[in-house]
Amino acid sequence: MPNALHAKKHLAFNSPKAQALSPFNSPTIMAKQQRQYCSFCGRPDTEVGMLIAGVSGYICNECAEQAYEIARETMQHSKKGGKAGDLDLKKLPKPQEIKAFLDQYVIGQDDAKRYLSVSVYNHYKRLMQEDKADEVEIEKSNIIIVGSTGTGKTLLARTIAKLLKVPFTIVDATVLTEAGYVGEDIESILTRLLQVADYDVKAAEKGIVFIDEIDKIARKSDNPSITRDVSGEGVQQGLLKLLEGSVVNVPPQGGRKHPEQKMIAVDTKNILFICGGAFDGIEKKIAQRLNTHVVGYSSVQNTLRIDKENMMQYISPQDLKSFGLIPEIIGRMPVLTYLNPLSREALLAILTEPKNAIVKQYVKLFEMDGVELTFAPEVYEYIVDKAIEFKLGARGLRSIVESIMMDAMFDIPTRGDKHFEVTLDYARSQMEKSNLGRLQAGE
Ligand code: ADP
Repeated sequence: MPNALHAKKHLAFNSPKAQALSPFNSPTIMAKQQRQYCSFCGRPDTEVGMLIAGVSGYICNECAEQAYEIARETMQHSKKGGKAGDLDLKKLPKPQEIKAFLDQYVIGQDDAKRYLSVSVYNHYKRLMQEDKADEVEIEKSNIIIVGSTGTGKTLLARTIAKLLKVPFTIVDATVLTEAGYVGEDIESILTRLLQVADYDVKAAEKGIVFIDEIDKIARKSDNPSITRDVSGEGVQQGLLKLLEGSVVNVPPQGGRKHPEQKMIAVDTKNILFICGGAFDGIEKKIAQRLNTHVVGYSSVQNTLRIDKENMMQYISPQDLKSFGLIPEIIGRMPVLTYLNPLSREALLAILTEPKNAIVKQYVKLFEMDGVELTFAPEVYEYIVDKAIEFKLGARGLRSIVESIMMDAMFDIPTRGDKHFEVTLDYARSQMEKSNLGRLQAGE
């Protein structure tokens, strides 16, 4: 006589959904009179929610769930083992290959690309010799990339992430403040890394963290005796702990919203940190330094021709100190590189050349409606001129193209054109009536 539970499961299993889900697609389960037992836990059909029949036995719903969990965890571990564990230098992309990959997405910035490629490659090497205690210990070389906003720092980080074989995350330093003030604790930088590593601590400990906007935690003055500012030195001291390598307690959920959460200990010794920042106004510090060096040395003055348009290329660790980073932090980021300001040519190239160039993205969008989208060549020049005029850099390119294309994107899917050409006149008229154009005209 089937009991209530039995009746319920019978019903459940005979439902069309259950049948469709069953790999055996057969309602044989429970149909028979005699008792059936789970071949895994041995419990009879009366004690379990459901029994699924195999060729020569049964499995109950609970054992099936457990088996699924075990399989999932095992698969995850083996996948990650392949990711962070068994790095094979022969199979890893060489610095030149890494740079070639970056070239597909990021225009120019050769110096930064070379530094990044080498640092990532060396990071793999360090990880591989970790267990060999008797050999020369390779120390990690955290990187700092300085470049005005919109010149490609985050783009570089995102692009390199695509081919990394270790967990990688981007965090923003602006959310950090000293403990006790509103904001995230420094340890929360590692929360994201843990998350992308699926909480596999060993994998996270070999990862790479990109800390954006590092300049926002600079001390407001070079003079250390000035009253401590909240967002400055204290945060830098905290960050120093992470950069030099120590075991820190990381809140697995991040933030302070979950005071009851159990902390996870993470050793940062092998985590590579890449920091990026705009360091607005640092050109002045560079110029000051260069000038003071040149004063009184007329021979040096003659040989040293300073390219005033691109002061960033002369950056040195001293300038970071003048900007307000503490010397200990600077010392922990031995690789210092810079991004060039984007020239007109670079902006033109950014618009059309990278693998996912803005123009290519719009062509694709129209193609999905069966529309061939073309641009008159002078439209590109016009867009770049506008971006320069609005002082938006590469970031502005997209908003300008968006403003030009908005009406066409609204109308054409219904109109069903087969071809659409953006002429200079069309681009101009669209810009003038757009919010962006009006804003600028009103200024
Ligand atoms: P930031 O230096 O402020 O981090 P981003 O990397 O976020 O700047 O750049 C903003 C956008 O500008 C990117 O999404 C990209 O479309 C474009 N861009 C900036 N610099 C480049 C570059 N060198 N090559 C290609 N695109 C770029």
